[in-house]
Amino acid sequence: MYVANLRQTGQYRVKRIIEPELTGPVTLEPTDLNQLRKLLTPDSRTPLPIRIQGAGSACTDCNTSEIGTTIKMTGIDRIINVDSYNHTVTAQAGVLVGDLVTELAEHGLELVGGYDLAGRTIGGAICAPCFGPSIGTHGAYFASNVIGMKIIRGDGELLKLNAGQKNLLGAFRTSFGVLGVIYEATMRVRPIRTFTASHRRVTIDKFATVVDALAGADVGFKFYLMPYRDRVYLDLRRYESDPGNTYNAPWKLKDWGESTVLPHIFKSLNRVVPIQSVRYKLIDTISEATQGLVNSRLVATGSNAASQSNPGGKRPARRCYYSSWCFPAANFSMIVKAYQEFCETTYTTSNYRCDMPAVGYRLSHDATSLLSPSFDESMIALTSASTQPNGWDDFVIDFAEFAEKWGGTPLISQSRALRAEHVIQTYNKRLDFFRRMRRKLDPDNRLLNPFLAQFMQ
Ligand SMILES: Cc1cc2nc3c(=O)[nH]c(=O)nc-3n(C[C@H](O)[C@H](O)[C@H](O)COP(=O)(O)OP(=O)(O)OC[C@H]3O[C@@H](n4cnc5c(N)ncnc54)[C@H](O)[C@@H]3O)c2cc1C
Repeated sequence: MYVANLRQTGQYRVKRIIEPELTGPVTLEPTDLNQLRKLLTPDSRTPLPIRIQGAGSACTDCNTSEIGTTIKMTGIDRIINVDSYNHTVTAQAGVLVGDLVTELAEHGLELVGGYDLAGRTIGGAICAPCFGPSIGTHGAYFASNVIGMKIIRGDGELLKLNAGQKNLLGAFRTSFGVLGVIYEATMRVRPIRTFTASHRRVTIDKFATVVDALAGADVGFKFYLMPYRDRVYLDLRRYESDPGNTYNAPWKLKDWGESTVLPHIFKSLNRVVPIQSVRYKLIDTISEATQGLVNSRLVATGSNAASQSNPGGKRPARRCYYSSWCFPAANFSMIVKAYQEFCETTYTTSNYRCDMPAVGYRLSHDATSLLSPSFDESMIALTSASTQPNGWDDFVIDFAEFAEKWGGTPLISQSRALRAEHVIQTYNKRLDFFRRMRRKLDPDNRLLNPFLAQFMQ
């Protein structure tokens, strides 16, 4: 039987869900479908509202219920079938992306795109925009390759969607769990394909002159932006007929350097080096050295299987604070310079700056999900990240203001300090349609928390 952790004055008690006096906030981790379904049926005593959580890596309140029940999906984690002939995989929603990648590789297969942060769950990657340095100009998101889903609605009813139900599939992709709980999904995969990875170090001005061409090119495109050093480190991936050997080890080392070593070093430096100017000089020098040595020299060839970060499939650790916004690729040459100016001004006026480089990806034009952030045009997703909590909350408010001013599209799961009116304005008619559908599927708002109700009620 599953257990519930009931938060009471900071302590956790273990309780059985069937106890009648159970009140929220409560976190439950079902381990099979019957348990999940029982929790969702209206005659259960599950405190409302119910919010579904994958690995919990989104940085807004889209995946928690402060007063009701948070259902963690990580216990429902079976890979059901890898079809090597038809190139599909079927898995339960709590499977970690990294575990899926490892299993596929054993069959000579890989995901169609490249997605960093393998510690997220398949359900989370389908229901929130999940992107990475994928090569090509089609299918920007993990969800784009989902061709079937099994769902439990907020009233406990089951729903099955197949590839023929394009509109419904489009609505459930990027649906943040408000239309129902996805418990199983079938995705298109493909035989492992190798690519070359080349790296360039350029100034922000130079980057501004090439970003337009890169955004439309058939390359995988990721960049690390260091506004205080006037540097952009580009990671460009291309398919080649004979890219040479691909080894996992260099990618693992790169991932370890970026996601574990750097945040730890920066946190320590922030503690032990009191003089700010000296500290940030050191931090930026270490960042540059990592980009130059680890990233540029180590990884020259790869595949979506080999380049997966956190390949062991561990859940994401909260090493950094982050906030992401999407900007029209067509204007990004101006926006990147404005972002540099914004960072410098914010540092001067508030004395706060991010210690990690900002990271960017191209999101191809992709209308396969109703709430796709790049539904109308190609976008660039820009993530500001820092290990420093003091001042971060004010920074993300300023970043949100900057983003709105420059035509930024908020990511409901990843844009901190987003304004509800701005979400409504940006997603506009698509959101209207989505809301109508949500009201039909969950008329009692069982799956809606106050954060999402601001724009989805
Ligand atoms: C340091 C860091 C860096 C990141 N960088 C990137 C990045 O580069 N690219 C990127 O795309 N993302 C990035 N993210 C964001 C995050 O990883 C994605 O939003 C991810 O897809 C969320 O997956 P999750 O399993 O953690 O889901 P959660 O965060 O737990 O949930 C996300 C949403 O999906 C819903 N949901 C989850 N599972 C289900 C289900 N089974 N059925 C219905 N609804 C469900 C939740 O209710 C919620 O609304 C980053 C996060 C961190 C912490």
